Amino acid sequence: MTMIKGTTKILGIIGDPVTYSLSPVMHNAVFQYLDLDYAYIPLPLKSEALATGIQGLGAIASMQGFNVTIPHKEAVLPFLSATTTLAQTLGAVNTVKRTEQGWLGTNTDVHGFLQPLQALERDWQTISVVVLGSGGAAKAVVTACQQLGCGVIHLVGRDHQKMKQFYHQLNSHLPQLNLRLHPWASVDSLLEVAGLVVNTTPLGMASQPESPLSLAQLKTLTTSAIVYDLIYTPRPTQLLQMAQTLGLTPIDGLGMLLHQGVAALEFWLDQTLSPEAIAVMEKSLLEACTT
Ligand code: NAP
Repeated sequence: MTMIKGTTKILGIIGDPVTYSLSPVMHNAVFQYLDLDYAYIPLPLKSEALATGIQGLGAIASMQGFNVTIPHKEAVLPFLSATTTLAQTLGAVNTVKRTEQGWLGTNTDVHGFLQPLQALERDWQTISVVVLGSGGAAKAVVTACQQLGCGVIHLVGRDHQKMKQFYHQLNSHLPQLNLRLHPWASVDSLLEVAGLVVNTTPLGMASQPESPLSLAQLKTLTTSAIVYDLIYTPRPTQLLQMAQTLGLTPIDGLGMLLHQGVAALEFWLDQTLSPEAIAVMEKSLLEACTT
């Protein structure tokens, strides 16, 4: 445990709820490893108190920055002095830091999502992507797949109006975006030609453990297909268990969680973390997931 002193600088995570967040675990582990005089704390904040909460954090001089999670990733934008181009593209912020001009917001989810994929050898231009769900995380996933140069990205969702807004938000910043919108009823035909399938719905979490896709649907994928589930508890989800059994390439959400955290810390500290420091963060997450 980091020794908290009078000089300790504070980072944290705002959201509702934040009880299950693993961010305090990984950040405090690396502070201890690097002997940094920082502490990272959960900051539960209700939507109705967001404005006063952000103002209050600004008044505390030791507060260097914070992560933002559900439900504030979009709502926090009006309370920031500036946002990075990436945060503007997504219309969502997950990391905020104190600057002389005020709070600066960015988004590290795109970076986090990409890290596990970049370790794989694929000709991304030939890959067709199927993204299940069209919420906040899906925006980061679609932007990341666009950055990766994927051929075509199919977004599967249940609310067409929301999906159209999703499209316009991203397309106004990413004019080359090759994104197509589909209802769930079309998913079978999309899977047959998919090289990457990403679950961004909460289906598969401990609270709603049913898989978003059946074994029969997964069987229609080509053997080189990657099945990426953003969920990291349970590990593995039923979706990834089935993908593993079929010899597909499964990726869970823990790598994304880790690397969005690494990128957030590098943004706050303005320095690059060593592979050893990143390994400490990863180990702390793995331990937290198995306890
Ligand atoms: P969100 O904004 O609430 O979006 C969830 C999406 O899933 C929405 O499009 C929603 O559809 C859809 N959905 C929910 N229940 C469904 C159901 N029963 N059937 C079909 N679709 C359903 O949440 P989010 O922030 O994008 O997060 C989504 C998931 O990603 C969560 O499990 C979260 O923990 C995970 N995540 C992981 C990381 C990581 O670092 N690994 C980062 C961010 C998020 P509607 O639009 O119709 O409501």
